[in-house]
Amino acid sequence: MIQANDPKLTSWIEVEKDSDFPIQNIPFGVFKTKDSAPRVGTRIGNKVIDLNALFVLGYFKNLPFEGSDFNTSSLNNIMKKGKEGTRELRNRISKLFTSDFPDLKNNEQHVAQVLIDIDEVEMLMPVEIRDYTDFYSSEQHAYNVGCLFRDPNNALLPNWKHIPVGYHGRASSIIPSGQAIHRPKGQKKPPTEEVPVFGQSNLMDFELEMAFFTYEGKPLGDHITTAEADDYIFGMALFNDWSARDIQGWEYVPLGPFLGKNFASSISCWIVTLDALEPFRVAGPDQSNPKILPYLEYAGNKHIDINLDVFIQPEGGEENCVCNSNYRHMYWNMNQQLAHHTVNGCNINNGDCYASGTISGPNEGEYGSMLEISWKGTKPFKMNDGTERKFINDNDTVIMRGYSEKDGVRIGFGEVSAKLLPAK
Ligand code: MN
Repeated sequence: MIQANDPKLTSWIEVEKDSDFPIQNIPFGVFKTKDSAPRVGTRIGNKVIDLNALFVLGYFKNLPFEGSDFNTSSLNNIMKKGKEGTRELRNRISKLFTSDFPDLKNNEQHVAQVLIDIDEVEMLMPVEIRDYTDFYSSEQHAYNVGCLFRDPNNALLPNWKHIPVGYHGRASSIIPSGQAIHRPKGQKKPPTEEVPVFGQSNLMDFELEMAFFTYEGKPLGDHITTAEADDYIFGMALFNDWSARDIQGWEYVPLGPFLGKNFASSISCWIVTLDALEPFRVAGPDQSNPKILPYLEYAGNKHIDINLDVFIQPEGGEENCVCNSNYRHMYWNMNQQLAHHTVNGCNINNGDCYASGTISGPNEGEYGSMLEISWKGTKPFKMNDGTERKFINDNDTVIMRGYSEKDGVRIGFGEVSAKLLPAK
């Protein structure tokens, strides 16, 4: 077992019972305060831990890190140390904050330099993302979309159960939780019109997804197997892949999503390591009918049990839960996605981001987009203020939260939240 994952560990920092951030989490993020420049941190309970301060005070002796790895505005430098480096770092942090470890706990001056209240920090974009790929790996989502746009008898396209389908997205418009977006404008062709029109999107949607971030990969021409994939995955975040359905519907044939997707995707700011998620592994679906090709086969449990909830909050109103899903509903896991992505020799880089595709569960109430929840606008969602939603209204905030829980340990992601402002 990874030392920092021990469910028996407790911290000398107070952690509330339902906190996403017990000592077993130790996620990584980038923050600033009104007095300090961006730097790398972690979090226990409601305290942000300044990793640059810990480094400067000598608490990371004999680890393969230097000051520039923490006194910086992204996690890319610590990610360059690979799985072994970040695992050692997480284990060291865990030890420093364990209840019975006195060194830091008993040094009041150091504690004051290292701990910051969560209310006093601004969380920033955690990773400088080089390339971004979006998959389409939830069977229920692919089936639902197939029903809505084709027919239930041919809902899944012939390739879907053979290939983890994906497309290359845009890295520049991935933004951190809290940053508002504007309703996009673009070209669309409403069914009532003869010719396309230009205007604001009227069918703004979210997509409930999880993202993972990679370490440096192999040279161009080499590939990563499903057995090797874990060693190339640093951690995960919540991911809202904002989608303008009317723009998407007109543009996507034959080359797939473009301006209906690339105006913004929002991510949660704490990257939870794959190491911290290991205790929550579960078996995936049967993939023997049709049988998958050998390069996509994998051993062991590679899916992860992560509860996922989506809320819509109108301006000045209450949160309305519109979806409870789970990351375990994926048909293709991250190992298969990465093996497929690299099987042709495509190289991956430190800081690349891969999103899962919309994660829909098998039942109503578990669908991960308004397109499915409102069944293309035919079944509006009733909000608790009496209004209805087919898609997202101006000034609505969309919030996604996620956590894993087992043996009394809850490892969470916090949230990804973003307000949709009117079109510019
Ligand atoms: Mn997507």
